[in-house]
Amino acid sequence: MHPPLPPRRTAAGNTSADPHVLPVLLDARRTYREGLAAVADRQRARLADLVAFTRTRSPYYRQLYAGLPERVEDPSLLPVTTKRDLMTRFDEIVTDHRVTRQAVEAFVADPTLIGQPFLNAYTVATTSGTTGIRGMFLIDQRALAVATAMAGRMLGSWLRPRDVLRIVAGRGRTAMVSASGGHFASAAAAARLRSTRRGARTVRLFPVQTPLTELVAELNAFRPALLAPYATTAALLASEQQAGRLQINPALVTLSAEGLATDERQRIADAFGATVGNSYAATECPFLSFSCRQGWLHVNSDWAILEPVDVDHRPVPPGQQSHTVLLTNVANRVQPILRYDLGDSVLAQSGPCACGNPLPAIQVQGRAADALTFPDAHGSSVTLTPLTLSALLDRIPGVELAQILQTAPTRMGVRLRPAAGADREQVWRSLSTEIDALLRAHGLDVALHLDEVPPQPSAGGKYRLVQPLQSTDITES
Ligand SMILES: [Zn+2]
Repeated sequence: MHPPLPPRRTAAGNTSADPHVLPVLLDARRTYREGLAAVADRQRARLADLVAFTRTRSPYYRQLYAGLPERVEDPSLLPVTTKRDLMTRFDEIVTDHRVTRQAVEAFVADPTLIGQPFLNAYTVATTSGTTGIRGMFLIDQRALAVATAMAGRMLGSWLRPRDVLRIVAGRGRTAMVSASGGHFASAAAAARLRSTRRGARTVRLFPVQTPLTELVAELNAFRPALLAPYATTAALLASEQQAGRLQINPALVTLSAEGLATDERQRIADAFGATVGNSYAATECPFLSFSCRQGWLHVNSDWAILEPVDVDHRPVPPGQQSHTVLLTNVANRVQPILRYDLGDSVLAQSGPCACGNPLPAIQVQGRAADALTFPDAHGSSVTLTPLTLSALLDRIPGVELAQILQTAPTRMGVRLRPAAGADREQVWRSLSTEIDALLRAHGLDVALHLDEVPPQPSAGGKYRLVQPLQSTDITES
């Protein structure tokens, strides 16, 4: 889960004149105005185009789609794909023959290249391996133009005129409190924004690993008009603001979806006197959705298809919790994401949303069965969703694979496999600092330890990120 990608700079260093953005922006406005039927029309046509393109350029998809009709407008006709497929068959999936797994791996191994375009054309972002495999994703110029247009749609729905005035008064200073030191979507976005002279002045990335007192001092000095932290960091910063140590005046606080309780969201809004928005997105589709006042996430369905399905990949009707959700990104062609299993459990809204946004809306739970529940100091319990924990792991540099186990009511163990070349001790320090902050933000007193055993697959051979208390009997195996 990442904050949405902001406008990009072209390879030549030119921000304002990206020829891709304007037509996409105008189309996005028109589609939104025309309503749901127009959204569905765009989606069908774009899916058909993407499938046709992919069949001509990707040997993997050509083979996978061999038995399908010539024109495909219905995503449910397509076989499901997984991250494992996309990473193990990388070279046969990408549609630009200059892109190879080996070349991309060499690129992401070099931290000086964060935010630089790969082959002068593509943005690269990695995710750590919460499903057992590290993800490497390429985003092309059209998908970035769509991300820019969707960021405009999102901000347009969130900001009231007085918010805009406050942002202008604050000269648009933007503080991203985010992972650094790796090719993560947010770090790449920050580096890209900072590559213009104006961006270098107004956008700053504050590493999420910064100790809280230091972070508070630096934010006080920077005085951001926009603050983009992870939800758990936002909760800590809201407490600092309430205590008077942090004294900033952001008009907008945007959170990455981490399963934040509604009252926490309100507390953050009150602490800063700011509009709070969040989005649910993935590195595979950075412009997926954005929140509304009613607490739903509206999916940008003119450019993304999200299908809630059961364990056998059959559709789950609105109002019911899905087992997983299948994602199709119809904007990005270089590495097609088609009916891709995202692994999150969602609930689609039945009927139109009270906020007036015509786009279909969802709520995201993460896999309910894998949630961890701990007793808090007040005798009630706090649940951490797998989505919260995977978002946390995705921002720790150097994690190849990790598993989080509840070993007793107030004990948590972590199994860790560091990425090649990463220092196990250093990765554990970052990881334990982050988990401690998460637990504190939720008012929990839980003992944390590093398990000497590496991550273990379950009976079916899959790595599960989270093992709740009742299923930790496999710990000893
Ligand atoms: Zn809504």
